[in-house]
Amino acid sequence: MGKLQIFQFPCRDDNYGVILHDAETGLTVSIDAPETEAIADVLEDQGLTLTNIATTHHHGDHVAGNMALKNAHSCTIVGPQAEREKIPGIDERVEHGDSVDLLGHRFNVIATGGHTLGHIAYHLPNDNLLFAGDCLFAMGCGRIFEGDAPMMHESLQRLAALPEETIVYAGHEYTLANAKFALSVDGDNEELKARARKVEYLRDDGKATLPTTIGIEKATNPFLRCGDPAIRKTLDMESATDAEVFAELRARKDRF
Ligand code: ZN
Ligand code: FE
Repeated sequence: MGKLQIFQFPCRDDNYGVILHDAETGLTVSIDAPETEAIADVLEDQGLTLTNIATTHHHGDHVAGNMALKNAHSCTIVGPQAEREKIPGIDERVEHGDSVDLLGHRFNVIATGGHTLGHIAYHLPNDNLLFAGDCLFAMGCGRIFEGDAPMMHESLQRLAALPEETIVYAGHEYTLANAKFALSVDGDNEELKARARKVEYLRDDGKATLPTTIGIEKATNPFLRCGDPAIRKTLDMESATDAEVFAELRARKDRF
């Protein structure tokens, strides 16, 4: 097992593609397949052949490239068992607690339902990497389309329990809008204020704000800070449960 090379690139409107390559094994994985052409371009630039696609969930902006890439590279597609019927070309179905060997690295599957019911994240414990799809974003979290707030809250808690140094890749560049919402509920958080300024500079320069880390998110992402006294005070929910605070935050973000 060698060291992973990671290529992150913007595609579609606000998606990120992520390609992983291990030079020792010569194997290459795409996390989701938002767009055939953008992924094909990176593969061609780097002279890589795709071995696998690791799917987080069934939405079109995560599986659009599945069939074309599979046809071009004969790659194998792994994805959530619960969404197998909605994931084009799926070969291997996995669920919470499974681990799957890709590129000679161990990918642990973590159930992260809420955005979609069967959504999964991939954790590489040995590399301290997490691919969170549309569950956890920088200073935000995915919209709840199929699950409910308690389910999404539990999913995020699973990710928050990973080591703080875990490097987190996510499916979208939503960070600037997320920062504005975060400030509206946690406006005295100095770390959040500093991060929001940094994110503005990065976006002004057209740079990516991801990856992030679990530690940074725990300090600045309101959806991972449901127990925080200042956030609870702002919401006037000092004696609510964390899950209730989460539901209120998600509802406010939907209207923000
Ligand atoms: Zn999605
Ligand atoms: Fe998405």
